[in-house]
Amino acid sequence: MNQEQLVHFREILNNKLNSLINEAIKTVDTMSRTEEENFPDPTDRATLESDRNFELRIRDRERKLIPKINQAIERINNGTYGICIECGQEISVKRLESRPEATMCIRCKTKEEEFEKKHNI
Ligand SMILES: [Zn+2]
Repeated sequence: MNQEQLVHFREILNNKLNSLINEAIKTVDTMSRTEEENFPDPTDRATLESDRNFELRIRDRERKLIPKINQAIERINNGTYGICIECGQEISVKRLESRPEATMCIRCKTKEEEFEKKHNI
């Protein structure tokens, strides 16, 4: 991967990290606000509960994704970005464009997913 590409991916990763953090702050903010509100109508209450489940799922996704993106930025810094941690081959730029935090090439990732599915992980 050349310098230009590294700069490009660093920018993508930084943007993604910023928007995830903003999203997380917003989610936490919404949750603490709804806790203070009172819902006497049980229908409203149910709606709120399902909304909250949705927010919790988003938080879970952010919680998992933020460290991955931080690690990817770290890998740009130490010169190992874009190299598959499994087989040591270069991860395709096309894959990194859609998953800039990817640590594995598509072949190893597919293998891992098949393994997880088979062993119910
Ligand atoms: Zn690989």
